[in-house]
Amino acid sequence: MQLYNTLTRKLEEFEPINPDLVGVYTCGPTVYHHAHIGNLRTYIASDVLVRVLNLAGYRTKHVMNITDVGHLVTDADEGEDKMAVGAAREGVTAWEIAERYTASFFEQCAAMNIRKPKVVCRATDHIPQQIAMIESLERQGYAYSTNDGVYFDTERMPSYGTFARLDLEGLRGGARVDMGEKRNKTDFALWKFCRPDEARQMEWNSPWGRGFPGWHIECSAMSTFYLGDQFDIHTGGIDHIPIHHTNEIAQSECATGLTPFVRYWMHSNFLNMGANERMAKSSGEFSTAFTLLEKGFNPLAFRLLCLKAHYRKGMKFTWDSLEGASVQYRRMKAEIAELVSEAASEESRVDGLVTMESYEAEILAALYDDLATPVALTTMQRALADATLPVMGKLALIKQFDTVFGLDLLDQGDSTVEPEVSGEALALLKEREAARARCEWSVADALRGRIRELGYLVEDTLDGPQLQQVRS
Ligand code: AMP
Ligand code: ZN
Repeated sequence: MQLYNTLTRKLEEFEPINPDLVGVYTCGPTVYHHAHIGNLRTYIASDVLVRVLNLAGYRTKHVMNITDVGHLVTDADEGEDKMAVGAAREGVTAWEIAERYTASFFEQCAAMNIRKPKVVCRATDHIPQQIAMIESLERQGYAYSTNDGVYFDTERMPSYGTFARLDLEGLRGGARVDMGEKRNKTDFALWKFCRPDEARQMEWNSPWGRGFPGWHIECSAMSTFYLGDQFDIHTGGIDHIPIHHTNEIAQSECATGLTPFVRYWMHSNFLNMGANERMAKSSGEFSTAFTLLEKGFNPLAFRLLCLKAHYRKGMKFTWDSLEGASVQYRRMKAEIAELVSEAASEESRVDGLVTMESYEAEILAALYDDLATPVALTTMQRALADATLPVMGKLALIKQFDTVFGLDLLDQGDSTVEPEVSGEALALLKEREAARARCEWSVADALRGRIRELGYLVEDTLDGPQLQQVRS
């Protein structure tokens, strides 16, 4: 499988550290407001990544943080905490805001079939881990204190900024701005002290004084806590490259002494309104899954719209484009519903099987080519329109790849369409399992052949063997 790695700016063959369990970390939402459909585009991309890894046979440990403290309004270290902005806007506590918008986020994800990661971790639940990492940085001389916080000294790390190809001289030398007691303009807060004039609702004791963690340290501390000091894949939106991820790398690599912190960095591009106008929560004008529902759209039509664009390309969102995806989605579902009713009456036909396998190979190749969902989708639609394919073959193809598309293509209203499996095939499958357990491979292969004659393919998945019906 090839993935585009921001670290090297190249397509690279994916080679996991431990092939038995692939670690994936995704920067989660800042829960001071509803996530918008731009954020959701990014989470659909990481969801597709994990689904493709699973399709390729990898078990995954997917971790996502919830930023519920420390993300200041400027993305740098100045201004109010976004959680306080949310609390003031709605007249409730910052804790209630976090609760409210974490729930809203997962509700929206569910509406778009974005699977909940195995581990979801809140920054406020991991203050000790963040303090421990800052202490380690301080012990090794990477941290210094000022009157308003503890900062990371970016000059101490010679490779600082190479990830984002930052022009450090330009950045550090440019026009003078008020840096307070910071040593370099690129230095960033690890811990901020509460200001005497500020009544914060979220604050903790630390070896440096009462305060709260900087935004970046939560991701370094929690990703290494759950996935180890070095892990496979880290995802996020492209806006995170120059600051947030650059700083995560600095903190993690300097604290652990291990390089690289992450093997593959994957970034998805923006959803834009109009000409390159990025959708942003701070603008106050944005659309959510709830807006789509209010306007009568199925959130899965939005998921389809996202899959029709490659995750690394900017996506221009218009209501017309969503309308187009919506029509396409309804058409696909209607075609598939027809196939399902045909399946019951179709005469057995094996002649289309080889062609079906070539479609399967084509779709797999697309997905393994840096998650080329637009190509995978059009290939699947070509397969659906191919009159030479057996209906059961088409349904098997849809079933297999909807595990990645996540479009509920086989759901017809309340009933999920699963081709009925014959008792005889199931009995043979059991026998085959017993033969495999005794390491009688030729017996197992012969049984696979008999199952095939009954019209089923045996697929060995991580959840055990599954039967795919290939003809009626
Ligand atoms: P935030 O909640 O602001 O921390 O952002 C959550 C995720 O959404 C991050 O990975 C951002 O990079 C990403 N993101 C923010 N705005 C957009 C957008 N307009 N299009 C796509 N992704 C976005
Ligand atoms: Zn992060």
